[in-house]
Amino acid sequence: MNELDSQLAAELLQQLGYEMVPSARKADVILFNTCSVRQHAEDKIYSALGRLKHLKQYHPQKIIGVLGCMAQKDGQEIFRRAPHVDLVVGPGRLRYLPELLERVAAGNGPLLAVSPWSESAERSSLLVAFEPFDPPRRPQSVPPPFQSYVRIMSGCNKACTYCVVPRVRGPEQCRPPEEILQEVRRLADAGCLEVTLLGQTVNSYQYRSGGQTVRLADLLAMLQPIEGIRRIRFVTNHPRHMTDQLLQAVRDLSKVCPYFHVPVQSGADAILRRMQRGYTPAYYREMLARIRQTVPEAAVTSDFIVGFCGETEEDFEQTVRLVEEARFKNAYIFKYSPRPGTKAAQAYPDDVPDAVKRRRNNELLQIQNRISLEENQKFIGRRVEVLVEGPSKTGRKSPESQSTLQLTGRTPCDRIVVFPGDRRLTGQFCWVRITGVTPTTLLGLLEEQPQIVPYSCKGISYGDSTLQV
Ligand code: SF4
Repeated sequence: MNELDSQLAAELLQQLGYEMVPSARKADVILFNTCSVRQHAEDKIYSALGRLKHLKQYHPQKIIGVLGCMAQKDGQEIFRRAPHVDLVVGPGRLRYLPELLERVAAGNGPLLAVSPWSESAERSSLLVAFEPFDPPRRPQSVPPPFQSYVRIMSGCNKACTYCVVPRVRGPEQCRPPEEILQEVRRLADAGCLEVTLLGQTVNSYQYRSGGQTVRLADLLAMLQPIEGIRRIRFVTNHPRHMTDQLLQAVRDLSKVCPYFHVPVQSGADAILRRMQRGYTPAYYREMLARIRQTVPEAAVTSDFIVGFCGETEEDFEQTVRLVEEARFKNAYIFKYSPRPGTKAAQAYPDDVPDAVKRRRNNELLQIQNRISLEENQKFIGRRVEVLVEGPSKTGRKSPESQSTLQLTGRTPCDRIVVFPGDRRLTGQFCWVRITGVTPTTLLGLLEEQPQIVPYSCKGISYGDSTLQV
């Protein structure tokens, strides 16, 4: 969600004539888009802001801004901790970024633009306070990547006790299906091949109009015929909204990828209750069984918080048992850190020592890594279709040919595949035969050398070695 906000904010400014530059030193405007889901992310922003203090001292005309969830959550506190910041803009105020920048440039800073929020506020006033930020994409000014995010809803109506998201992104607001279709059509016309539909609880999407309700399953069916789009993904799911209708849509619609990210957070009933997640471990297991039954080839991933308030060894053991049974493709495991303003931070002591959190985190990670490796091993010898994303992080050149690199791409079930190939394959679909695996990656060889047609848009080629994508 934050990545998409960054792209949209950058596009908005580029349309007004702003240009990206390679470093903060060369920039007139330096913007940080921030996350506040965990303490660690916030600490990183404050230290990055600290590093800019001297730059601002020597170049006072440079504008430094903080956008996003941390801006909404901390507000004035950011000016107190980093007085050289000129602008603080919450996610519900992003659409005003251009005029806010103009006002700061005209000497009217520092400026704070966040959505008014209070525990007791009416839902209707919160809907107004948190304006969704989905400006129309203009491919003529900024070519979209061949993989694009499309927000279908913003905010969240749940009340998980550890989570700051409803406070910083406001209540759930679903975009009209026609607007989403238009955006995807426009992206497809500009060369986009894969869209990922975004929502905090994406499978709760529903839009009522004229006595009809469009749910996520209906939306997927509406997107399926769009020419040019080859893959459709959606994240993040909530276990309570995994309807049979949605599972059948994933099974029956050829472009919809068989991949479900469904955070469970804990395998212990008492912990889920304290987290106010709205389901039990038994409910989650039943949901998982329905996914496996309806879409047997689907990959399922999950999130876990270890060391949540009051988590006992027995609670943790129940989480371990769930991980052993569920056989997730992979899982994102985090140590609990209290978020100011959340119910958990106010009502429950953060009573699991950090060393215990670390141990549980490592133990769960080890178990999950073993399972991920075993699940990946099932792919050895199989042929998978990969959308090539570009050179892999290490970007090693093959000893045989200078133009051959280790490339990386993804299967429909979101497995990362690394294989040697020509970088100009970036943005193309290839068949790769899997020859080896690690817990996180499938390793393979191109099944057949596809014709190289570099993905390009408006004259910019994504396989071009001079372009950083
Ligand atoms: S579902 Fe819960 S964890 Fe997810 S964004 Fe909403 S409140 Fe946060």
